[in-house]
Amino acid sequence: MSVGETFDLVILGGGCAGLSLAYRLAQHDRPPRTLIIDPRSEYTNDRTWCGWPVTTHPFQDDVRARWHRLTLHTHQASTTVESRRYPYEMLEAERFYARTLEAIDAHPCITRHQGRAVAIEDREDGVTVTLEDGETIQARFGVDTRPHPQPLSSPWLWQDFAGINVRADNMPQSAELMDFRVGDDPHADIDFLYVLPYAPDQALFEWTRFGRPPTDPATLERALEDHLEVRFGAGCWQALRRETGTLPMAPPTRTAGRSMVVAGAYGGSMRAATGYAFHAIQRWADDCAAALLAGHPPVGARPGRILPHLDHIFMSTLARHPERAPELYQLLFEKAPTDRLIRFLSGVPSARDTLSVMNTLPWAPLIKSTIRHALPHKM
Ligand SMILES: Cc1cc2nc3c(=O)[nH]c(=O)nc-3n(C[C@H](O)[C@H](O)[C@H](O)COP(=O)(O)OP(=O)(O)OC[C@H]3O[C@@H](n4cnc5c(N)ncnc54)[C@H](O)[C@@H]3O)c2cc1C
Repeated sequence: MSVGETFDLVILGGGCAGLSLAYRLAQHDRPPRTLIIDPRSEYTNDRTWCGWPVTTHPFQDDVRARWHRLTLHTHQASTTVESRRYPYEMLEAERFYARTLEAIDAHPCITRHQGRAVAIEDREDGVTVTLEDGETIQARFGVDTRPHPQPLSSPWLWQDFAGINVRADNMPQSAELMDFRVGDDPHADIDFLYVLPYAPDQALFEWTRFGRPPTDPATLERALEDHLEVRFGAGCWQALRRETGTLPMAPPTRTAGRSMVVAGAYGGSMRAATGYAFHAIQRWADDCAAALLAGHPPVGARPGRILPHLDHIFMSTLARHPERAPELYQLLFEKAPTDRLIRFLSGVPSARDTLSVMNTLPWAPLIKSTIRHALPHKM
């Protein structure tokens, strides 16, 4: 296929969402004729995806490590939760890229094209995508997974993080989801450490911050290095790999057009209250591929009706009372039944899961203060 022809589908962005969708299409003999546009010249091990596989995905064999027990530390207490059913899992991007690109590149109906989309004409009868070099692409439908960072306003926060895969002796052997003991100023941004040991002498350490405006991840990388120097001793640890990220803990800013849907972390698959997106992207890719293979238009992500409202209330509280973050997370982990909490955090709770999790938090004051904040002149 050549970029000059008209495609059934154009996918803007060949990252997690774009490749997840194309990989599913590549499992079939005659999928829609698809073009993936991405400016990358190479794929590197640029991120590590972690989360709970509450719903299954086709990359189980690529999972690097799984943990059934997770610990949360605050200055006041430590809580360990355990789930036999939903182990927390870690998948390195390089394995995902290798598997998806091999299948996609072997398929005669799916083409990758290196380019940067700069303009989209979205009509009832199709889309025209203009690339940076002036080339145009015609397709019947489009899926736009490009990142779309926007300034955030209250109550939404940025999640900034710096991670280092560390090799050292005396590595902790338990996975620590949130260690709030590293944050020294409770009234500043919300800082915590995340530690995932995946070999006897290796672990992924991540320094994470929720705040607004965003923090330069280089600042967090320095904080993490200082922590590692104290923890293991000066010069007694080795950095094997580094990653940084800045994610908006906010609802999507774009919506579907006429023939183009939005998808991916910036298209409704990222949970505002957590920043988790990988498993939601996998669920969306299943739905979208099923629609396309049945001859229907592509579909966007379905964030649910209640969760965005609960996320708004929770984020309002974190934004105005960052000092309460450790206490609120501690309550969630201590009081909520673990599997129900995992389904809730993963964005696929039953009604009973949601009620059960809501019961653990002091929602009445949270809602009251959210309303007071939203209606400052009336309260
Ligand atoms: C370092 C890091 C770690 C993360 N860890 C986790 C985690 O542990 N768990 C979790 O659930 N989520 C995690 N996330 C969040 C989220 O899952 C990832 O960001 C995920 O890659 C989002 O997938 P995506 O397809 O929306 O975006 P991406 O994977 O970023 O793909 C977007 C693609 O669009 C391309 N692009 C950009 N501009 C254009 C353009 N103009 N035209 C065409 N293409 C364009 C980019 O090159 C890129 O390939 C992490 C994010 C980062 C950055």
